[in-house]
Amino acid sequence: MTIKEIAKREPQSLIGRAFRFAEEAHHEQKRKSGEAYFNHVLETADVLNGLRLDEATIAAGLLHDAVEDCGIPSETIKSNFGEDVAFIVDGVTKLGHIKYRGEETKAENLRKLILALSQDLRVIFVKLADRLNNMRTLQHLPSPKQKRIALETDEIYAPLAYRLGMQNLSGELRDLAFPYLHPSEYKWLREETGEKYGERRSYLEKIKPAVERALKDHNITPLAIDFRAKRWSSLYQKLLRHDMDIEKIYDLIAIRIIVKTVGDCYAALGAIHGHWPPLPGRIKDYIAMPKPNGYRSIHTTVIGPKEKIVEIQIRTEEMHNEDENGIAAHWLYDQAHSRKEKMSPQKVTEEVSWVQQLRRWQAKLFGDRGNLNEFADAMKVDFFKDRIFAVTPKGDVIDLPYGATPVDFAYQIHSEIGDSCVGAKINNKIVPLNTRLMSGDLVQIITQKNKKPSEDWLKFVKTANAREHIKVALKQKRSVVSAHQAPKITEIKITVKPHLGLLKDITAVIARSHIHIKSVEMPSQPGSRFSIIKLQCSTADKEKIEKLVLKLKSSKEVKEINYKLI
Ligand code: MN
Repeated sequence: MTIKEIAKREPQSLIGRAFRFAEEAHHEQKRKSGEAYFNHVLETADVLNGLRLDEATIAAGLLHDAVEDCGIPSETIKSNFGEDVAFIVDGVTKLGHIKYRGEETKAENLRKLILALSQDLRVIFVKLADRLNNMRTLQHLPSPKQKRIALETDEIYAPLAYRLGMQNLSGELRDLAFPYLHPSEYKWLREETGEKYGERRSYLEKIKPAVERALKDHNITPLAIDFRAKRWSSLYQKLLRHDMDIEKIYDLIAIRIIVKTVGDCYAALGAIHGHWPPLPGRIKDYIAMPKPNGYRSIHTTVIGPKEKIVEIQIRTEEMHNEDENGIAAHWLYDQAHSRKEKMSPQKVTEEVSWVQQLRRWQAKLFGDRGNLNEFADAMKVDFFKDRIFAVTPKGDVIDLPYGATPVDFAYQIHSEIGDSCVGAKINNKIVPLNTRLMSGDLVQIITQKNKKPSEDWLKFVKTANAREHIKVALKQKRSVVSAHQAPKITEIKITVKPHLGLLKDITAVIARSHIHIKSVEMPSQPGSRFSIIKLQCSTADKEKIEKLVLKLKSSKEVKEINYKLI
């Protein structure tokens, strides 16, 4: 049933109400293609429904653009559709602020941010469904945008889906991105392999009955035998490893056998090998040794009828469902279902620790089983209790320790930004500089030229980086201040023809130059035609003094002026 049908049939259900709300909110909004915007959120919800996710997730799929694109307050979502839906929509909105432009070092941070943000994994499901629909309609966007979004999909979202075990979604995202990222290779691939695919397919169709017979001889009734065509993107990756020689790709199309039990998987493998000899070194038992993302199946490559090489994949229905839908598949398990087999020790992989964390959590989920509510709770995970991922206005992700403030954020970007920081905005609101950041916060640092850090900052910054830079900047500041507090003194000696109001005239000129006079001395010069005035001024500013000297010299009475720093 489509979401439209569900909404029609149960207008008062959460999905029905979200449907009408979204339709109203996006009313008259159009996408670049000219299509109604509502179709985008509807299709997003349909993808989520296809993953058989719960009502709250599907409702959030319908509402995911309502806050950002229609200006509907998050509180409205909460009061109308409940906390879960509002939380998911908020999460998706925050994810929308992140932009990836292909810097390798940032990709990992970005993936971490996405997981950290998605304390509820349903946020990721909605984001992935949203991205899938955006990729399917990418042809309507301008070319540079297509490239950026395709790259982000290929390097961030597809791997994320893969790590969550959602191979199907991950593969489709990759395939959709491929023509945008490698247009000429895509064209070449289609031309080179189009015929091959056809040939392979008809060959496999022909041998299918033989495979069925082989299984039957061993009393195995398969639930299904179908064919899996290799995806463009993974075919391309494989060709790169095999000198672009299509003849070396044995799994262009594979036969997939789905059986009832794990025991049947191994029995089927035996049956197949009894009929057709396996190629050495190509039997992969991902049931005993699942892939890091949880993938399970047995793969083998055999020399089939007419000496042709055939790849065969054997799995149970449950493994198949998991392979397609990953952890989303676990929504489907009923309470009675239990899995007795243990996960075998995982291969040591180069996976970073967060993936292992995720895996452990998944393993725990697999082991404990539990009902739907427990599963919903299990979805609310706290991957990175000790890390915060905040976002710059450009969409870059800054990785910080828990408790970090806008000042830490500023120094993390650049020491100059930290030093000249005077204020900060979080999610467009001005906040005190000691505010603790949260993952997904959009942080904007307000700077002012020639500003120096405040000593107070040392009381709340969390990163050593910020602390050190502040200390250095404060030292420089102190030395400037001390110079200011004990200013140098210039002594000016003026030789002048005495006249009435002499001193008054001279001090008036000095005052107009904004120079502070510390002391004045007029040593008596008996018998001299000239008086001498000695002034001490509280400045060492040569420029100021020079100007003053020029002014004083313009008076006819002044005969000579000397000055020196003391
Ligand atoms: Mn969207």
